[in-house]
Amino acid sequence: MTEINANFRKLPGGYLFPEIARRVRAYSAQNPRARLIRLGIGDVTLPLAPCVTAAMEEACREMGRKETFRGYCEETNGSYGFLRRAIQGVYRDAGVELADDEIFVSDGAKSDCANIGELFAPQAVAAVCDPVYPVYVDSSAIAGRAGTYDPVTGRWDRLVYLPCTAENGFFPTPPAEQADLIYLCSPNNPTGTAADRAQLRRWVDYANARGSVLLFDGAYEAFITRPEIPHSIFEIPGARTCAIEFRSFSKSAGFTGVRCAYTVIPRELNRGGMSLNALWARRQSTKFNGVAYVVQRAAQAALSPQGLRETGAAIQYYRRNAQTLRDGLTKAGLTVCGGVDAPYLWVKTPDGMDSWGFFDHLLRRAGVVSTPGAGFGPGGEGYIRLTAFGEAEQAREAVERIRTALA
Ligand code: PLP
Repeated sequence: MTEINANFRKLPGGYLFPEIARRVRAYSAQNPRARLIRLGIGDVTLPLAPCVTAAMEEACREMGRKETFRGYCEETNGSYGFLRRAIQGVYRDAGVELADDEIFVSDGAKSDCANIGELFAPQAVAAVCDPVYPVYVDSSAIAGRAGTYDPVTGRWDRLVYLPCTAENGFFPTPPAEQADLIYLCSPNNPTGTAADRAQLRRWVDYANARGSVLLFDGAYEAFITRPEIPHSIFEIPGARTCAIEFRSFSKSAGFTGVRCAYTVIPRELNRGGMSLNALWARRQSTKFNGVAYVVQRAAQAALSPQGLRETGAAIQYYRRNAQTLRDGLTKAGLTVCGGVDAPYLWVKTPDGMDSWGFFDHLLRRAGVVSTPGAGFGPGGEGYIRLTAFGEAEQAREAVERIRTALA
């Protein structure tokens, strides 16, 4: 009998979003006329920027002509120089110089964050924030790095959990124990908060002193508004010897359905006498044949001056929604974090309600769908997550409805 990877048996099984969908279906069946406002799932709602679709149309036409057709991309790291140069330009604007071969273009930050674990030994100790974007936990579990899941505590016994609480501003400090692979996400999903320079410097110092690797997820970098918040871990001195950075066009340019992202691995990053950049190049060339030419042209357009203006307008729209929710819900008496440098708001449940209880309350009394914080790990209990992706009018109406529901 062929044995499966037994780690799959240990996964508690994608419970969060199916359970939300089940409760929403049950509510809608009982209240067929209720008009729900969905502030739960973190997908974008605005269309692609005009210059992005124009670039895709032009690239499609090129693919339809014999002289300009392209097959497999044979260039550095399997992506086109025009896109890697555009990405270098974005980093240069933040004062960070990247070599061309330090950039790996991919189909998503999700796949990169999950696959990067292949570079490390199963016994490497992984550390995750609590609450956390679940991909880091589940991919560590599939790799056999998380140990055993305890359904009572909601924790894996071999992971180091880094509590993110109101007391530490929802960003962890390095633990006393050894952690080898440290997943950090800033601006953060789900808490919507962002780490400043001093907070990141502590992690860079920890990682360089301990030989750890920081896996820095910057998927929401484009939402940063405050100048004291770094856009890249590589703005922190010393990061080139300890960090890998993931970025995505999903939330910055509305590419969730287009699929394009990139990962930066500095040449100086070595562990066990091996270059992680070279290992990732080897891994990708073995398992991945690159991103569609049409999509790489779309991503290049998104990073052009016109693209940045056009995608910036969409981000501004979501930011205003975040502000509407943040101001309105704070006035309604709720404690709200995030929503300044990120499209997520992390809202404390009132009166000691648990997060599923508050989820149900908002669904039944306000017709608003949220995400219970407990779905992001035990540290999310007592919170819900709201997203600013959606219509401005809906954000305003959600505030009114929640205010009434709380009164
Ligand atoms: N990283 C974080 C923190 C996310 O929240 C998401 C998507 O929600 C991703 C990565 C996935 O990005 P992509 O669409 O590029 O796979």
